[in-house]
Amino acid sequence: MSRVVVVGAGLAGLAAAAQLVGDGHQVIIAERADEPGGRSGTLTASGFTFDAGPTVFTMPHLLERAFARLGQRMDDHVRLTRLDPAYRAQYADGSQILVRADRNDQLAELRRSVSDRDAEAFAGFADWVERLYDVEMPNFIERNFDSVLDLVNRPIAAAKLVALGGFGRLGRAVGRRFSDERLRRLFSFQAMYAGLAPSDALAIYAVITYMDSIAGVYFPEGGMHAVPRALAGALTGAGAELRYSCAVTEILRDGRGRVAGVRAGGELIAADAVVVTTDLPTAYAELLPELTPPAVLRRARYSPSAVVWHVGVRGLPKPGLAHHNIHFGAAWDESFAQLIDSQQLMADPSRLVTIPSLDAPSMAPDGHSVLYVLEPVPHLGGRVNWSRERGPIRDRLHTFLADNGYPDDIVTERLVTPDDWKAQGLAMGTPFSLAHTFFQTGPFRPANREPRVPGLFFAGSGTTPGVGVPMVLISGELAAGRVRDYLGAVR
Ligand SMILES: Cc1cc2nc3c(=O)[nH]c(=O)nc-3n(C[C@H](O)[C@H](O)[C@H](O)COP(=O)(O)OP(=O)(O)OC[C@H]3O[C@@H](n4cnc5c(N)ncnc54)[C@H](O)[C@@H]3O)c2cc1C
Repeated sequence: MSRVVVVGAGLAGLAAAAQLVGDGHQVIIAERADEPGGRSGTLTASGFTFDAGPTVFTMPHLLERAFARLGQRMDDHVRLTRLDPAYRAQYADGSQILVRADRNDQLAELRRSVSDRDAEAFAGFADWVERLYDVEMPNFIERNFDSVLDLVNRPIAAAKLVALGGFGRLGRAVGRRFSDERLRRLFSFQAMYAGLAPSDALAIYAVITYMDSIAGVYFPEGGMHAVPRALAGALTGAGAELRYSCAVTEILRDGRGRVAGVRAGGELIAADAVVVTTDLPTAYAELLPELTPPAVLRRARYSPSAVVWHVGVRGLPKPGLAHHNIHFGAAWDESFAQLIDSQQLMADPSRLVTIPSLDAPSMAPDGHSVLYVLEPVPHLGGRVNWSRERGPIRDRLHTFLADNGYPDDIVTERLVTPDDWKAQGLAMGTPFSLAHTFFQTGPFRPANREPRVPGLFFAGSGTTPGVGVPMVLISGELAAGRVRDYLGAVR
C-alpha cells in the first residue's frame, strides 16, 4: 500500500482523496482550517449560517461518482433538491424571466414573458448546448493532457466542435438564436463564471450555460456546506485520515528529487505522492519557492473577483422571490469592459442575490432570512482601494436590497472583498483563479503534474480543467489518475 498526502480539504482535495482511497492507497488529507470545504465553507453569527462561497450547485453526478468510488451512495450522505426556478432574472426595465427546471415549463415561460418566436428557438438552443457538452466533456474536460498535441489527437471531436460553431464567440452564437436582448444575456452571462465577457468568450463555454440552465441547479439539504461535510464524513468512514488545523509548509523530496512527503509545522508526514490543491500560484510561491512557476502562471490573466455581502435579516422574502435572483443592469458590454479591461467597478452592476433560507430554513432563526449578495468586481490588479471602497459598496448593496423588495432589516452582516480573498491565500484577490481564455484552457492551462518533482500533482481551479465546483471535482479525479500512473510506474 502506498501513502498519498492530499493538501487541502476543499472539494478538489476531497474528490482526489475519494479516488485515491478507491485505488487502495493510504490517504492523509492535511487541511489548514478546522473544517472541510475550503471556499465552500461556512460563516456563523447570531444564529445565522452563511455559505461562504459557491451557491449554484450543478452536475451532481460528479459528486455521486466520488461517493461511488468509496463504495457508498451519495443519497445516504446528502440529499439534493433540484431548484425550480433555477434562476429568477430581473431586468432593469422591471420585467422578469424564470429559468425553469422542466423544458415544457421553460417553453411556457418564454411564451408568456418573451415571445413565441424565442420560445420556439429555445429547443434548438438547448439541443446545441447539449451537443457541445456531449463532445467536450469526454474529449476535452474529463481527461489529462500531456501536450498541446493531445488536442489534435482528437480530430473527430475537434471537427464536431468546429461544426457546432464552438470556436466562434459565445455572445454572437447566443445572439443569433434569440432576438430578445434579455434572453441573450440570460443564456450567455455564464461566461462570467469563466472570467470572460460573453462577447470575448468562445462558444465552447456555452457548456456552462448547459450545466445550469439545462441540466439544472441543485441545493443540498442544509446548505452548500453539506456537500464537503458529507464527502469528508464518507472519506473518514472509508479509512482516509483527515487532519484539520494542519497547515503544510513544505513539500519534502528525496535525494533523487522525488516527492518524499510534506512538512506540516514541526511534523514530517512521509508520502509516496502528494496532491496539492491550494491555490496554484500560492502553492508555487509558498510550498515550492525554489521552482520558477510555469510560464503560463507567471504571465497569467486572472478572472475578476467578487464582493460578497452576507446578511442575516429580520423577516421573510415576499412571494415571487426565488432562491437565486440575478439582477441585470441596463448596461452590458460596457460593464464587462469596465470590469475586465479597465479593471474598475461596474457603473451599472449586475448582481446575484441568493436566499438559501427559502429552502433551508434552519440557516436562519425563525422569522428571519439569510441573504447572499454577490457583485463581480475587479481583482487586485485593478485600481480599487478596498479599505476606502468597503463602506460605500456596502451602503450601495443595502440600498439595492431595499429598492428591490428584499427584507433589509439587518441583524448581522459580513462583507467579503478582494482583500479578504487575498488574505485567504488566493492570488490577485480572486477566488476564481485564471480566466478561461483559450490559452489558459485545456493543455495550455497550468499542468496538474510538476515534471521537476516526480510524485507531485495538483488539483483545484488553477489547473485543469478549471474553475467552479464541477471542474474542481473533475480536477481531483484527474490528479488521482496522475497518481495512478505514477505509482504504477515507480512500484
Ligand atoms: C464567492 C464564491 C462564489 C462561488 N460561486 C460558485 C458557484 O455558484 N458555483 C460553482 O460551481 N462554483 C462557485 N465558486 C467556485 C468554487 O467555489 C471553487 O472553484 C471551488 O470551491 C474551489 O475548490 P478547491 O478545492 O479547488 O479550492 P479550495 O476550496 O480553496 O480548497 C483548498 C483548501 O486548501 C486549504 N489550504 C490552503 N493552504 C493550505 C496549506 N498550506 N496546508 C493545508 N491546507 C491548505 C484551504 O484551507 C482549503 O480548504 C465560487 C467561489 C466563491 C469564493
